[in-house]
Amino acid sequence: MTELKVISASAPGALPAEPFMARHLIDGMWRDSADGQVFERHSPAHGVLVTRAALGGEAEVEAAIAAARRAFDEGGWPEMSGKERAAILLRVADLIDRERERIALLETLESGKPISQAMAEIEGAADLWRYAASLARTLHGDSHNSLGSDLLGVVLKEPVGVVSVITPWNFPFLIVSQKLPFALAAGCTTVVKPSELTPATTVILGELMAEARVPPGVVNIVLGYGQPVGAKMTTDDRVDMVTFTGSTGVGKAIVAATSGTLKKVSLELGGKNPQVIFPDADLDSAVDAVVFGVCFNAGECCNSGSRIIVHEDIAEEVIARVVALSREVPFGDPLNPETQVGAIISREHQAKIDSYVKAAADEGAEVRLGGAALRVPGLAGQFYQPTIVAGVRSDMALAREEVFGPVLSVLTFRDEVEAIALVNDAAYGLSAGVWSENVHTCLSFARKVQAGTVWTNTWMDGFAEMPFGGVKQSGLGRELGRYGLDEFLEVKTVTMRIGRTRAPWVNTGSHA
Ligand code: NAD
Repeated sequence: MTELKVISASAPGALPAEPFMARHLIDGMWRDSADGQVFERHSPAHGVLVTRAALGGEAEVEAAIAAARRAFDEGGWPEMSGKERAAILLRVADLIDRERERIALLETLESGKPISQAMAEIEGAADLWRYAASLARTLHGDSHNSLGSDLLGVVLKEPVGVVSVITPWNFPFLIVSQKLPFALAAGCTTVVKPSELTPATTVILGELMAEARVPPGVVNIVLGYGQPVGAKMTTDDRVDMVTFTGSTGVGKAIVAATSGTLKKVSLELGGKNPQVIFPDADLDSAVDAVVFGVCFNAGECCNSGSRIIVHEDIAEEVIARVVALSREVPFGDPLNPETQVGAIISREHQAKIDSYVKAAADEGAEVRLGGAALRVPGLAGQFYQPTIVAGVRSDMALAREEVFGPVLSVLTFRDEVEAIALVNDAAYGLSAGVWSENVHTCLSFARKVQAGTVWTNTWMDGFAEMPFGGVKQSGLGRELGRYGLDEFLEVKTVTMRIGRTRAPWVNTGSHA
């Protein structure tokens, strides 16, 4: 039996001699915390100190919200023309390209993801800033010229106001770029909080925005934990909207926290995303996509293809092929350009992944590959073996909950009705995929499944133009595309009468 492809420690020169020093950005100034407190981030792959960051508290959030409020209310940013805002967003995109290697290195060091993937993500993020710039210039409302010859209706789209932007650790730079340039294109001002595990690249983005001449107060960055920083960003009555990406549990806490002030909320949450494989599928493509779907970002991905639902006639063949291909994926030192799967974000998270696998095995599922931590020679950090679990039943936690590791659950089906029922038997509804050479099977699947995104004969393709988001407990609202801009806009109806044609409501007799 082939061993796993493990890439041992191979790029020691790339490790930082000094940690990155991260500070808050408030009203255009870089600041330490008022009480001088800091927190640290060590590389999950190498165990070295990567970042020392100011630890935000109430005082920093207070100052950041006040600055964002002023920047909005005094009008400089929301009243700027779309053309001017677009020019600034385009400058940010160019600066992201210029700093791509530096950003990618810190992203890899803080998150443990492979450097090749981090480079691709930063390139994709710059594209999002460019796309948002195009939206800033083309933003418009509607007009209604059919209300009668004496009436004209105009629907204005206006920025929501001050937006709290709260992001997770798994794609720190990409996710802030799915939100921030769209909020800015709309004319909103913002307070941004990156995950406490990955603060550095959001701080670099702050440096680049200052260089691109984003005015002071328009983007403020506060570093720290959910408590108290994130919590205050969701309760303060000067904040008009919260856009959050993270776990469903915290998403629910945010909905509860915002209810006191009825803020607009947009949530991108977890998923338990199925791929259904019919007997007529092109198995070469399907198997490759299954391995990609579950191994990409070490499975720490909202879109992880963490469950496959395979027709029972081909299940054994598919499992054997997925096991064989998974052994070919290079796991290990994320700084090596050949590595395709890196480290797990933390020891606690690795233990959680392992506990899901062990629980499924205890309940009768069969671990066909992996099922344990992976030791990478020369590296102190944590890694988890690619893991394939067959014989999973839909009532097991492994089939229902987000594991967030490189762990595939395999379920089987007999006919289309059963396949769709298994897909929809989930609290989540982020994405779903189907593999079949029959267009009717694919279209029928696309219409019947409960998911924000459906892929047919592909997996995880994403574009700035295509909206992304979930149904059920995977979220509220959409990012990307024109819908991603609409999240940050309020609609205002203006109805105008032409001439003195309105019949009086009070009859004074003078019009008799
Ligand atoms: P998390 O929910 O633990 O944390 C996300 C962010 O929320 C962090 O910045 C954290 O500090 C902050 N936070 C924590 N408690 C808070 C509170 N009470 N109020 C306000 N903010 C608070 O998520 P994570 O572990 O960083 O990320 C992994 C999760 O993110 C997974 O569930 C994954 O599916 C989800 N995710 C979803 C998408 C998507 O687009 N649907 C994309 C990426 C990640």
